[in-house]
Amino acid sequence: MSIARVALDVPVPFLFDYHAEHVTHDDIGARVIVPFGRNKSSGNRTERQVIGIIVEVCEESSITRDKLKPIIRILRDMPTLSPEWLALAQFCANYYQKPIGEVMLSCLPPRLRTDRPLPAPEQRFRLARPATEILAMLPERALQKRALVAQLANANISEVAHAALEPRVRALLRELVKAGDVIIDEPPRSDSGFIASHPLTLEQTTVINAIRETSGKFAVHLLFGITGSGKTEIYLHLIAQTLASGRQVLVLIPEIALTPALQTAFTTRFPGARIAIQHSAMSENERTRGWLDAQRGRADIVVGTRLAAFVPLANPGLVVVDEEQDASFKQQDGLRYNARDIAIYRASTAGIPILLVSATPSLESYQHALTQRYRLHRLSIRAHAEAKLPAVRLIDTRQHAPKHGLCAPIAEAIATRLTRGEQTLVFLNRRGYAPVLSCPACAWISSCPDCSAHLVVHLAEKRLRCHHCGHAENVPRHCPQCGNVDLQPLGRGTQRLESSLAERFPGARLLRIDADSTRSRGSLEAMLDEVHQGRADILIGTQILSKGHHFENLTLVAVLNADAGLFAADYRASERLFAQLEQVAGRAGRASLPGEVWVQTRFPGHPLYQALASHDYAGFAQSVLKERRQADFPPFVFEAALRAESETQEHALAFLQNALAIAPENQDDVTVFQPVPMALPRLARMERVQVVMQSPSRPRLQNFLRAWNSSMYGLPAKGVRWHFDIDPTEF
Ligand code: ADP
Ligand code: ZN
Ligand code: ZN
Repeated sequence: MSIARVALDVPVPFLFDYHAEHVTHDDIGARVIVPFGRNKSSGNRTERQVIGIIVEVCEESSITRDKLKPIIRILRDMPTLSPEWLALAQFCANYYQKPIGEVMLSCLPPRLRTDRPLPAPEQRFRLARPATEILAMLPERALQKRALVAQLANANISEVAHAALEPRVRALLRELVKAGDVIIDEPPRSDSGFIASHPLTLEQTTVINAIRETSGKFAVHLLFGITGSGKTEIYLHLIAQTLASGRQVLVLIPEIALTPALQTAFTTRFPGARIAIQHSAMSENERTRGWLDAQRGRADIVVGTRLAAFVPLANPGLVVVDEEQDASFKQQDGLRYNARDIAIYRASTAGIPILLVSATPSLESYQHALTQRYRLHRLSIRAHAEAKLPAVRLIDTRQHAPKHGLCAPIAEAIATRLTRGEQTLVFLNRRGYAPVLSCPACAWISSCPDCSAHLVVHLAEKRLRCHHCGHAENVPRHCPQCGNVDLQPLGRGTQRLESSLAERFPGARLLRIDADSTRSRGSLEAMLDEVHQGRADILIGTQILSKGHHFENLTLVAVLNADAGLFAADYRASERLFAQLEQVAGRAGRASLPGEVWVQTRFPGHPLYQALASHDYAGFAQSVLKERRQADFPPFVFEAALRAESETQEHALAFLQNALAIAPENQDDVTVFQPVPMALPRLARMERVQVVMQSPSRPRLQNFLRAWNSSMYGLPAKGVRWHFDIDPTEF
């Protein structure tokens, strides 16, 4: 008798045994439908059918034969998941302390977690024989059919083109297929190569040669270059070389918003390459098809957000992580992975190079580069001959008091741009009209009933919104506490800034780009297009605008309210602020027009701003690393957190105390801190507390966590949700 050991999406850290008559080792990695839950006879819960993955096949089970249920069906609609992919999932389960079944199923695209039919590979229609032969057999009066054959003689019909054909023409095409005159098959890879755009600079050539030396073996390259130094161009060249050797490339990017631009770049530069996009906002069919193409080796370039880190590759040759420092590579729920780290793991097991690309690397990566674990490649000049790094000016608000959020020198600088017909970006990383509504009479302020957070005023829709849980309510007409009708919005978000700029610069064309204005699908692209077409003079944007985009005519970036990030409690705040400001500064002066960045601040002497003014990431990084070393923070120690959430803080704390009581005795080099509430203690009605752990040794921290985690599942956890977060970035 054969036993299939199956991973199921269940929060317990083991596999489930099923009886499977004909299962063989070839079925390892196959998706399978199995019964799960108690039998009707033995309990009140009914049995349901769930999907799983066969991870092992063996002869013996510790479950007695009469209790062993048979599998229902093996899904053979796609190739089995490779041993490499299964090993990747196993690695994640071990490293992130998550049940293997949960990990495996959550790493699959949603469609593959169901037994619904899979999308077929992309198809094309082409002639089976020379057109002359086919035409000779067709009657003269079959005009439309003859035209169709002539069309096919010119070019194959792609699936997309097929869908756009008139039904009548589609019917004729079907007849041709039936007659054997037309064949449906998959487009092969065409080797039309790479279209180089500029001659490379000396710096670029040197870097490319150095990286090329490691092709075919594992090495982590940190490509550290100022914004506009031609980093993208470098990886395009390396991708070209990888494709030429017949291997696949995985490119991870931080934001969905950046995919269209990159997709365009790839399709124009690699006309023959098959490109698969992977992110959460695409149709299920498209995403699944791209995934399957990558698995079968039929996608040459896979581009996507963090979830693309799990796409299987038949024949990988290179991995690129663009903006490797970006916080969005860390998933903050479910499997709390860091896609950059997963990518490095994959490159190491596949024995291929990986490129981490950034103008402001994460301090983790930078420290590895300084200690030669990663190879550091610096680019210090802008590639475009006339482009220079923007000059940074710090405007002291103690000398120039802001009016309606804007101080006079910045207002003048904007006015100058308007007369010159150049664009300005006003950067304010806070959306909404005002961060809070208040009552001057009794000091009431708008707060979320479900979170420890303020409700943000959204004036256009007359709503108060919680930016953490999504709670929304109408703006009250009078104070709920004292009845005062004169409620005041406090502070300034992008919407309020927009209206004060409109008053100040009548006639200027304003465009606000933030998560609210771009909520509907495709609207961000449409807005970016407006900017490129020169149909906007002043852009008002949050961090959505800070990344990746090129605006030729943008010469001024005005940064408002960056001070808010200077003194945050989170030790990563200054690293993030610097990266963000350097990035947004990099939007100015990318082409021939010189750019300027004006920062409005009360603390112009702050070392972070001083480093920004001289674009001195290295100096900034050195000083922050020194502080981190002294204070025992990452990258000099490794961290993990055990978190508990419950409706009352008491319950959550009690759970953590119980957990601490069963923590392994042997805490070899691991420091376990006392339970504390999280920085946002209440979120969506749940009280959140955590225990943070640190160790100078990652393996010792891992050993400790593994031992602890294995006993956690026995702990009573009624009304409590708990999880480990490894390498946490939010506290
Ligand atoms: P980064 O990724 O470092 O921000 P990009 O690769 O996007 O920089 O290059 C910035 C700009 O410089 C782009 O417009 C690009 O086309 C141009 N560029 C890149 N390499 C060269 C080169 N060798 N010569 C001229 N222009 C270049
Ligand atoms: Zn009041
Ligand atoms: Zn809330």
